[in-house]
Amino acid sequence: MIFDARSSELSDSFDVDICVFGCGAMGIALAREFIDFGARVLIVESGDEEADHETQSLYDMTSTGILPRSGPYESRLRYLGGATNHRGGWNRPYDKSVIDKWPVEYEELERYFSRTTDVLDLQHRNFDAIEAWGQREDQYFADLGPGIISEIRQIRALKMWQEYKDVLSDSENVTILKNANLFDLEFTSDKNAVQSAVVKTLSDDTKRITAKHFVLASGGLENPQILLNIDRLSGGVFSSKSDAIGKYYMDHVGLEGDVVPLKCMNPKLADHRQFAQYNIQPDEEKKYFFVRPGFLLDPSVPDYKHFPRHYFTVGDFHPQCSYQTKEQHEDLYGHSRFLWDAKKAGANPQVSMAPLFLDFAPIPNASSTVTLTEQKNALGHFVGNLHWQFHEQQEGIVSEISNAFEKRMAKNGLARVRLSHYVAQHGLALPDGSFKNDSHHMGATRMATSPKDGVVDKNCKVHGLNNFFISGASVFPTYDWSGPTFTAIALALRLSDHLKQRL
Ligand SMILES: Cc1cc2nc3c(=O)[nH]c(=O)nc-3n(C[C@H](O)[C@H](O)[C@H](O)COP(=O)(O)OP(=O)(O)OC[C@H]3O[C@@H](n4cnc5c(N)ncnc54)[C@H](O)[C@@H]3O)c2cc1C
Repeated sequence: MIFDARSSELSDSFDVDICVFGCGAMGIALAREFIDFGARVLIVESGDEEADHETQSLYDMTSTGILPRSGPYESRLRYLGGATNHRGGWNRPYDKSVIDKWPVEYEELERYFSRTTDVLDLQHRNFDAIEAWGQREDQYFADLGPGIISEIRQIRALKMWQEYKDVLSDSENVTILKNANLFDLEFTSDKNAVQSAVVKTLSDDTKRITAKHFVLASGGLENPQILLNIDRLSGGVFSSKSDAIGKYYMDHVGLEGDVVPLKCMNPKLADHRQFAQYNIQPDEEKKYFFVRPGFLLDPSVPDYKHFPRHYFTVGDFHPQCSYQTKEQHEDLYGHSRFLWDAKKAGANPQVSMAPLFLDFAPIPNASSTVTLTEQKNALGHFVGNLHWQFHEQQEGIVSEISNAFEKRMAKNGLARVRLSHYVAQHGLALPDGSFKNDSHHMGATRMATSPKDGVVDKNCKVHGLNNFFISGASVFPTYDWSGPTFTAIALALRLSDHLKQRL
């Protein structure tokens, strides 16, 4: 059932077993698990079926740190389906080495990877390049020789509301309340549990929801802002329970570079729904492994017309670089110098440059924050401020991992590789607004064993509250290079099992 909170015929109160705030990737993945389970689930969603300017404006924030090219207003979508309505759809679970630093056991989370591939409608359960692709004759991506491992990202940009709308709205026990925003929470007198939630429409109609359990699933940037706002309204209930609200915010950045293939690695893509990303073999480069890099190189760029369209919708491609088109390149000197070096090293002059992207796992940084300003939005919440900052060691490590990858590729006789001249010279000190951020909002309500270091425990439950949980990448305590959605959904499915046990 779908109800519109603006309807005058609707009751002013709801009583359910589980109330979920947000009908994006997490809210949908969670609610699906309760279809026919026999518990009453209510999803409260801020938006409607389509975007509207007034609701979307609730996503306005100010920014005082690194200015992302894709800012908080335009990168998010505040309507049913959330950011999955325009998400790129590159999917890969986080690596064991990253999750091993989390309070939750990797093996326990890994059990949900198979169900996550179903939710995201992915083709393969196997993300190991050699096993998934190794046997195919037309596939050369899988093995780049010693010291380099390849890791698969599967591409599928599932619009989750379109996909699951019917099954959710036909369900007897799942109700969706659209055009309703979580505004405030009412706590028990000992402040150890949430009693009810106050949700509001933009015309100030109020509904009150009582539930056994509440799940905040309003997106990686919104989850901390909602906690901070409710903290102010409640006189500090959340800040009395954790020191970490709004700290450790992080996003991914893709750095550009160039590749000149020395060897023919120009296969047809075997499968348009998979992409290999390369990484330095952990055994050989252990010291870099905690900031796992993922290098995306594409030696078959001359054949780019045959690429699947969604590959190009992911982000801005920098101009095709070749001998013929090198004048398009932003950094002519560096580019031609590099090509010349490559030619001397034996590159086939017919082979064009291919783009290289380095996605790196950012180092958690407590000074990278989401806070509140004194300005209010149309809902009556204080507008947030994003102060995104890299860790002071980030730049040096990015440069080291790039060099290590470059050496490895050259040693294996595969390609000349380097980050773009600008990045090589200036590192991460790019001018404001030139960061190609991925809009992967992570970390600002992080998971930790102690409330000193984090907001939620290993079950995604807010420290010090018996029945309030957070779902989404905002709970990640550390990050991998790949997109967060797969792993966040695996956590959401684990949370749904946990809630079933508690009911
Ligand atoms: C352009 C873009 C490309 C991306 N590409 C990738 C990719 O390739 N791979 C990858 O892994 N990830 C990608 N992501 C990230 C991915 O989209 C997110 O990880 C995912 O959507 C997060 O799901 P969520 O449910 O936490 O948040 P969302 O999907 O943003 O959903 C949050 C929902 O909460 C609602 N809401 C907000 N505030 C309130 C409130 N107060 N009350 C009630 N409801 C509220 C919103 O309307 C929305 O529907 C991309 C994101 C963007 C923006």
